[in-house]
Amino acid sequence: MTQELIRCSCCDEMVPADDAELTYRLPDAIACMSQEDIDETCKYTSDYVVCEERYFYIRCVIVLPVKESARDYAIGAWAQVSPKSFNRIWELWDEDDQSQEPPMRGLLANNVHLNQNAEDAEVEVQLTGSSSRPKIIIKDPECTLYTEQNYGIPIHRAREYSDLCR
Ligand SMILES: [Zn+2]
Repeated sequence: MTQELIRCSCCDEMVPADDAELTYRLPDAIACMSQEDIDETCKYTSDYVVCEERYFYIRCVIVLPVKESARDYAIGAWAQVSPKSFNRIWELWDEDDQSQEPPMRGLLANNVHLNQNAEDAEVEVQLTGSSSRPKIIIKDPECTLYTEQNYGIPIHRAREYSDLCR
């Protein structure tokens, strides 16, 4: 099997283009609980978690443009949203035109590795379609992902994220 290599613009290294993308399986606040506690206090699927009927989380992606590639890098991460937003998302879940819905405010629910001020950063959640995960738009400029999302990342950085999956 041959792998496509891309020359990184920051260091000239050849970096594999295809790599597993960093994914957080649960919001951090839930991931630190025992499976027993999770089963007792949460309702969840791979798409959402509701904890104690009070904390509502939606699984999303943080899309980061890669400077050297037409393909974006997507980190699988969770957003905490209000009960009202959660119900709205649920209502629209299978709708094809859900991307027409204005973005909803939320908080980033993962302390995304290799970043600062990621956990609880202000975000917006944008629905995208019935078969694709909602997108997280980072709104807090203090969160280092804000810059990465707005200006793009070198392929090298994508590789650093992927290395965390190993
Ligand atoms: Zn580089």
